[in-house]
This record gives sequence, C-alpha cells and structure tokens, in this order.
Amino acid sequence: MKKTVFLLLLLVGVPLVMFSAVVGEIKSRGYFLVGLSADFPPFEFVNEKGEIVGFDVDIAREIAKKLGVELKVVEMTFDGLIPALLTKKIDAIISGMTITEERRKVVEFSDPYFEAGQVIVVRKDSNFQPKSYEELVGKTVAVQLGTTGDLEVSKYQGIKVVRFDKFTDAFLEVRAKRADAVVLDSATAKAFVEKNPDFVISSPVLSSEHYGIAVRKEDQDLLAVINDTLKELMEKSIYNSLLSKWFE
Ligand code: GLN
Repeated sequence: MKKTVFLLLLLVGVPLVMFSAVVGEIKSRGYFLVGLSADFPPFEFVNEKGEIVGFDVDIAREIAKKLGVELKVVEMTFDGLIPALLTKKIDAIISGMTITEERRKVVEFSDPYFEAGQVIVVRKDSNFQPKSYEELVGKTVAVQLGTTGDLEVSKYQGIKVVRFDKFTDAFLEVRAKRADAVVLDSATAKAFVEKNPDFVISSPVLSSEHYGIAVRKEDQDLLAVINDTLKELMEKSIYNSLLSKWFE
C-alpha cells in the first residue's frame, strides 16, 4: 500500500516539478508579458501609427511564438522594470538592458543578444564636444534614470547629473540648453541623431556592454525557452535579418 502511494506521488510529482511554474502559467493564460521602456529606438519605440515596435519587440514575439502564446507588451519606465519583474507584473524584461553584476544579484539574464556601449551626445552647434567622461566634470549631464549611462556619470563627483524617466526628456533638456550632454547607448544615440540633426555623438564608444533578457531567478524553465529561441534565431539567420531590418 505504502509503495503504491509512493509510486503514485512519484508519477504525479516528477512531471509537476519538470513542467515548472511559469512556463505552464504563461501557456494556460495564453500570453507572454514583456516589460519595456518604449523610448529606446531601434530596440523599442512608438511608431507613427502609435504601435510599440522594434528589434526587441520582434525578439519578444519570437519567444512568444516558441511558447505558443500571444505577446503582450507592458510599457513602463526603465527604472520600474526590475521591480515589476520581481513583483510578477511581467514575465520578462526585453528593453535593451545591459547585463551587469549589480542587476545579476536580483535577476537572471539570458545569453547576451546584442553588443553596445555608452556614448556622449551634445548639441551640434555647441563648442563643447567632449570625448571622455572626464571632460564632463563641471558640466550638467542628462541621463535616463537607472541606466548604465546614469551609473557611469554618477561615479564622477564633479558632474551634475539630471535624471529623467524617459530618454526623450533628457534630450529636450539639452536642446533647451539646461544641460550640456546626454550619455546613452551607442545604437540608440545613432538612431536619435539621425532623426535629430541638431545633435551629434561627440565621443567614441566608452564602454563595452551586452544586452540580455531578464527573468526571475526561479524561472529557469522560461530562461531555457528564451535561450533556445535566441540560439535558433541566430542559427536560422533570422537574427541577421532582424539586424538589417532595424539597424540599417
Ligand atoms: N543599456 C542601458 C541599461 O541597461 C540602457 C537601456 C535602456 O535605456 N533601455 O541601462
């Protein structure tokens, strides 16, 4: 009798443990919840039709496809993403997020899927064309709150840092001459400067960063699906066609 009960528990229990919590939950709810801050072209931004689109959104859709569910994008400030993940308002963060040791203490990252680095952006008509963070000492620098750009310039005592929820507001501050520069990720800076010719990138790339998709530490099953999808996208060169779609 005892043996039968044990076997029964084993029969039910083992598949339950293997078919983990979050992937099962996503499948039965029917949609994959991805958090992002839609002010980061070409990774995530609002197009002319008012839709949130971009490289990250396409990758998120591929992961949803792999899970066999719809994609639901939840827009929020960049600084709110990790708290939203930890309180289960979203399943994953796909928002050009750099893999850092600090963030790794609280979330789990996928394999890296994009390489980037910080650059300095200034007004084109300005005499101030800084090439390094050191040259920003004594100046006012606008950043997006909680980004790696924020962390980098905040290390310097003499830099006055003004922080915004959205990158777009950081640029407005420089355009209005209330700040001297914006520090942000290279690919997004390039996209922004192309659309706004009154700005230029004045520095070389000042850091080496890798973007990763963040999930809760306990959601190893979802992490595996995400890494499998990324691997497949690269093998089938869908990744390359997404690169040319969003980065030409
Ligand atoms: N890559 C930067 C970071 O992780 C900025 C990302 C963003 O603003 N979306 O902090």
